[in-house]
Amino acid sequence: MKMQQIKDIIVSNPDGREITIYGWVRTKRETKNLTFLQINDGSCFASIQLTFDAEKGIDAATAGELKKITTGASVKATGKLVPSPASGQAVEVETSSLTVLGEAPADTYPLQKKNHSFEFLREIAHLRARTNTFGAVARVRNQAAYAIHTFFQEHGFNFLNTPIITSSDTEGAGEMFQVTTLDLDKLAKEGKAPVDYSQDFFGKHASLTVSGQLEAETYATAVSRVYTFGPTFRAENSNTTRHLAEFWMVEPEAAFFDLNDNMDLAEEFLQFILKWVLEKCADDLQFFDSRIQNGLVDMLKTVAASDFVRLTYTEAITELEKNADVFEFKPYWGCDLQSEHEKYLTEKIYKCPVILTDYPKEIKAFYMKQNDDGKTVRAMDVLVPGLGEIIGGSEREENLEKLENRIRELGLNPDDYWWYLDLRRFGTVPHSGFGLGFERLILYITGMGNIRDVIPYPRTPKFAEF
Ligand code: ATP
Ligand code: MN
Repeated sequence: MKMQQIKDIIVSNPDGREITIYGWVRTKRETKNLTFLQINDGSCFASIQLTFDAEKGIDAATAGELKKITTGASVKATGKLVPSPASGQAVEVETSSLTVLGEAPADTYPLQKKNHSFEFLREIAHLRARTNTFGAVARVRNQAAYAIHTFFQEHGFNFLNTPIITSSDTEGAGEMFQVTTLDLDKLAKEGKAPVDYSQDFFGKHASLTVSGQLEAETYATAVSRVYTFGPTFRAENSNTTRHLAEFWMVEPEAAFFDLNDNMDLAEEFLQFILKWVLEKCADDLQFFDSRIQNGLVDMLKTVAASDFVRLTYTEAITELEKNADVFEFKPYWGCDLQSEHEKYLTEKIYKCPVILTDYPKEIKAFYMKQNDDGKTVRAMDVLVPGLGEIIGGSEREENLEKLENRIRELGLNPDDYWWYLDLRRFGTVPHSGFGLGFERLILYITGMGNIRDVIPYPRTPKFAEF
């Protein structure tokens, strides 16, 4: 490709050669003889400066175009790339011609140069990527995705596409969006109940997936190592800053991995992504550090280089009970950890990411490997400061009888899991995996406060605009 982006131009040698710039105007500034435009094309955090010098002469066409320039207008410009005398920028463009591709009238374009609240920007999510913050989020998200694929590809994991429409419920706990082509209005009018799903498109009740794990296990027990990276859906009515109804999940699954291997994988994986993004998105992270979360870059560097703390759920409860008075929800053995507990462990006690293992079986999914104590399972959650749970995973129960019994104990029907149980019937092996919420990762890396601001178009209860 011949066309160059601003990210490449600003680090190239300002040797006076002629270049062409495409982008959107961020600011326009005028002195007596000089006009300066900052042009951004979103390829990097920085804008490039176009300089127009009346003393050196501006042709009539360009002068006319300059009059049309407002914040947000799109332009094409040509000129010479020269060293910039201004501080904070190595190069600028001595512009000889300018064409306005599209105007952005100042009285109607909503992104004028002032600080807008994230709430307001959510209402114009189709334009918010043109701001510093959302451009930076988009680039960090992209590099994190690239890092994820790179890490797994370098470690022998096969990228697997699991179905989005499914008739199985991985978590065995509802919270699924139904998929149907039945005419619900018609059924309601006819007063038909219960609904006959054999008449539905798939001939049975179907939903959007909450996780690709069960299907991933079928491939892990064939090609050894797989990972999924795709959309997942939860119809949970949790209006928090950490939950979306549609989010992207990364789910590695590896045969012959026990829980310790799984923890090593999770830790190496997170650290790899942090190092990658620190390197590839240095300017964007510097911006988040100065405008969103002070100290972010140093924190990420430290986390990328130091071991995570590992302890059991039981040990964590003991620690939390020592400080029971600070919690709204009193911790006790058997309770599902609340966000306040997770934050206390990572922010107050250990001040670093913590991997908790061996949770009570009652609060974890049916497929987790049972410990000999009869009370706990080989689960692991990775908790990080500022956020709480970022990864949930486990070693899987590979014993057929134990797994069937657990399914029955929970009032589920083993027949519904016939193909999943086949993995334990034929050549069963120890295996493990986990799920990383991609948006939780981006929240963590950017320091952003609300998960709605790290996905282009958030889906949450009562909200599916755009
Ligand atoms: P939480 O307790 O925070 O709701 P969970 O126990 O429901 O999480 P899992 O079912 O283990 O989460 O899912 C794996 C990962 O997916 C979580 O560690 C988290 O990073 C992410 N995740 C889960 N639910 C959501 C959601 N509604 N929106 C965004 N990410 C989510
Ligand atoms: Mn949840």
